[in-house]
Amino acid sequence: MKIKTLKFAMPLVQLVQSVTLAKPAALAALVAMVPLLSACETSTLKTVPSKLGQASSMQQLRASLAAPGTVVFTKHLSANWQINLSGLLNLEHPKAIEAGLEERAEPIEIYLYSLQHPTKGTYFVDSGVSEKMLPNSDTSDLSYGVKMAMDTDALKVRKTTKSIASTFPDGINGVFLTHIHIDHILGVSDLPKGVAVYLGPGDVQLSNFANAAVQGTTDRLLANAKVLRQWGFEGSTKPQVIDIFGDGSVWAIHSPGHSPGTTAYVVNSTTGPHLLTGDASHTAWGWKHQVEPGTFSANIPQSVTSLNVLAELVKEFPQIHVHLGHQSL
Ligand SMILES: [Zn+2]
Repeated sequence: MKIKTLKFAMPLVQLVQSVTLAKPAALAALVAMVPLLSACETSTLKTVPSKLGQASSMQQLRASLAAPGTVVFTKHLSANWQINLSGLLNLEHPKAIEAGLEERAEPIEIYLYSLQHPTKGTYFVDSGVSEKMLPNSDTSDLSYGVKMAMDTDALKVRKTTKSIASTFPDGINGVFLTHIHIDHILGVSDLPKGVAVYLGPGDVQLSNFANAAVQGTTDRLLANAKVLRQWGFEGSTKPQVIDIFGDGSVWAIHSPGHSPGTTAYVVNSTTGPHLLTGDASHTAWGWKHQVEPGTFSANIPQSVTSLNVLAELVKEFPQIHVHLGHQSL
């Protein structure tokens, strides 16, 4: 079975181990980098505090769900891809063992969500996939090693970010990232220079050896953003929550674990409330059985806590439509 992967923010040893499951050329490309590697941050782009959003609480978020939503919410499938199940799901969890789940190439999807607010403009959550990822593109922001490890041949573009953005003639006011990993920033280069990109704290600053192999790629993919705006999660009450527009329409919930800054979003839309979990839960099986993500996560105990928080919210408000990181329910 052909399994390809890229551990976007994993220790180098795991990165190389994972690629031994992939094609030999990918391993050779990464091994060639080893003498050059030293721990570094995910990106060299400057971060600034977000001017958008105010610290709030889960209590306020819950209260907002009672009112009819005003945001027009649309989910866009930007690409299909595949990756190791062990990265997406903790296969050592008793429920996964009981179900007999084993390592395999798991089909996944890359999404972009558009939020059209009645007065604040149009925002994307995550960025989809740019036209540079089309098979006939002659430019790429991915380094050779990243391209090999990602197995870009298996990535099938369904709708580029440029084509999705073109359906909003008034432009895109910003992008709310669920986190900084490469599969969530592949579309930023299709958006105008200076596009406002928002993300959770700690993703840029996370320092490890694997970043030496992906930092250049991350920087190039995010170049149009110029700076990265960090959500100002505050207070000792967990989870930390932000009311993005100050009117209860769109919420950011700090959901660390997969990465330090992983952020879930709740949108009070004209079709009811929607929860975008980001990679706090990648797969349909993982959500249904409440099994946390696997080896792609930086901190599995934190992933468990974050997944529980989101699951509790949906248990309390079953009318919430749930959208997972890489599969649809
Ligand atoms: Zn992802």
